[in-house]
Amino acid sequence: MYVNFGGFVPISTVDWRGRAACTVFLRGCPARCFYCHNIAIQDGEDLRDADEIVAMIRESRTVAGAVVFSGGEPTLQGPALAHLAAAARKMGFSVGLHTNGIFPRVIEDLLAKHLVDMISLDIKTTWERYDDLLELTAADAVKRSLALCKRAKADGSLETCLAVVTLFRGREEDLPAIAQDTRGLDLVLQQGVAPGFVPLTRQELEAAAAPLGRRVHIRTREDGEVVYGPKA
Ligand code: SF4
Repeated sequence: MYVNFGGFVPISTVDWRGRAACTVFLRGCPARCFYCHNIAIQDGEDLRDADEIVAMIRESRTVAGAVVFSGGEPTLQGPALAHLAAAARKMGFSVGLHTNGIFPRVIEDLLAKHLVDMISLDIKTTWERYDDLLELTAADAVKRSLALCKRAKADGSLETCLAVVTLFRGREEDLPAIAQDTRGLDLVLQQGVAPGFVPLTRQELEAAAAPLGRRVHIRTREDGEVVYGPKA
């Protein structure tokens, strides 16, 4: 089996909060978010035998107890992703997934096979703006992925699920609706950074989160990730 490979980080402490993980980047993403920080692996081809990637993961075993699949969009390569996740599981790794949620069937398959312990799901904007932002028809698929994640989190078959919102100045009013839709998941507010935009500060992100009355994780370049809001 071949994998369209985007990169490998043998040890990361930022891709899965509180865990030492290695990170596999899978190349290719059909979305076109204007703020994408992984444009270099949105397209192109670097086909590798899956065994080569499995060997990379295995070599991280001395320092990492988890593997995170990121991208690009890893669920674009559903069979390869499931193959790698199963191989990682066999080696004793916990498995994490960063996804934009546009391929819910792949997420459903991973959950059904108990091949994933953590999902970090991007909720990029309100459903009304979704397709414009990603430049493809995505809203219904992401809604489906969100529902799958919520159900798996609620029934205990998914240990950790983050809903990650990248927030830009001027879009703060989107937050209450997104927070409502993602109840039951850990909500992460990520500082949106892109040319031509003045990023929201940590204090401004906290001010946007304050009316939600729920605990959120706020990520900024300045302060990393901090917890804000009530404990429960
Ligand atoms: S979904 Fe992620 S990888 Fe794809 S374009 Fe958007 S930010 Fe980039």
